[in-house]
Amino acid sequence: MTSVDYIIVGQGIAGTMLSWSLWRAGKKVLVVDDAKSNSASRVAAGVINPVSGRRFEPAWMYDTIYPFAGDAYHQLSELLQIQVLTERRLWNVFPSRQMQEAFMKKAAGGPYTLLPERMEYEEILDQPYGAAIVKGATVNLRALLPAWRQFLNSKGALQEAHLNLGELEVTAASVRYGDVTAQKIIFCDGVATAQNPWFDKLTFLPNKGEVLWVRVPGLHTEDIIKKSITLVPYGPELFWAGSSFVWDYDDDLPTGRQREVLEKGLQQLLKVPYSVEYQLAAVRPSGNDRRPMIGLHPEMPAVGIFNGLGTKGCSLAPFMAAHFTEVLAGNALLMPEVDINRYFNISGG
Ligand SMILES: Cc1cc2nc3c(=O)[nH]c(=O)nc-3n(C[C@H](O)[C@H](O)[C@H](O)COP(=O)(O)OP(=O)(O)OC[C@H]3O[C@@H](n4cnc5c(N)ncnc54)[C@H](O)[C@@H]3O)c2cc1C
Repeated sequence: MTSVDYIIVGQGIAGTMLSWSLWRAGKKVLVVDDAKSNSASRVAAGVINPVSGRRFEPAWMYDTIYPFAGDAYHQLSELLQIQVLTERRLWNVFPSRQMQEAFMKKAAGGPYTLLPERMEYEEILDQPYGAAIVKGATVNLRALLPAWRQFLNSKGALQEAHLNLGELEVTAASVRYGDVTAQKIIFCDGVATAQNPWFDKLTFLPNKGEVLWVRVPGLHTEDIIKKSITLVPYGPELFWAGSSFVWDYDDDLPTGRQREVLEKGLQQLLKVPYSVEYQLAAVRPSGNDRRPMIGLHPEMPAVGIFNGLGTKGCSLAPFMAAHFTEVLAGNALLMPEVDINRYFNISGG
């Protein structure tokens, strides 16, 4: 029989950051992950964008979350000897005159936004209304997730398997799964939580996103380029191009319909030919109020959840994982906005 402090189910960005944070706090963790090839974290681009939506307003809690994420990813870079975070310009192409005017009125000269001194990419991008620059970053999920997994494996803290809920034995004070006992089990299982009876009161609004990996001959840049579609550089002339948002879908596989939508976005952005290498799809674990879902089950406190990171997993996960670690240690109260008690009609705190 093995005994750990926490079993963490899932090693997307949520399970990665929570297990790292708990490990740093001196806790013994076991991460169980079934390596679903199209989990949200394995399909995502890893963009950190400090502004939201068409109005270029600073994203929720951004002043706290962004510097925190920067620090956390730098520490992980040192530990794992990989580059995790790359600060990048987001070259935002205005899709219309109205958007350009809205930016001039509200966002020009904001903390994260500026106008370019001169237009760039004129030969390659269709940008009749100009562009703005947002100070963003990318998280290299394709390096971080396997490197953290390898680290866990080297410490005997990884089980590459599907955790079967039916085999869990839970009491108020502990959990047993096979030959492992733990004080708590924390579900970081993304959209799979929708099937978890402990958390059936949580209102998920999962949405599916599809992406293309494309080659754009002649486009050499370290910038993220954004119009109705976002291009994220991944190698010489190679880009992640996405993504779509669909709330009504049959499965989590790529579709011809969304390929058309994505290609239309590419054709509206690029003046030059491109070629599609492959197409991927995944489902984002979003909640109905777009806030993370964090906490312990009110009646069964050995069972917890760290989920609902929605479209901003890379920005939110580092701060929220550290916050939850403090809460689990009894040093802090959960922020009410993220506390799952809001779904159990219990006020947080
Ligand atoms: C197309 C697309 C583009 C995106 N782009 C960005 C972006 O640029 N920037 C950004 O910040 N966010 C982006 N997101 C959102 C981001 O991907 C999510 O916020 C984030 O990945 C959620 O991470 P997670 O760890 O909660 O879930 P997931 O990544 O889904 O991880 C869940 C993990 O749990 C495992 N699992 C589930 N059930 C079990 C079980 N029973 N037993 C064992 N293992 C299990 C799965 O294998 C998986 O590894 C994007 C999402 C999509 C779909």
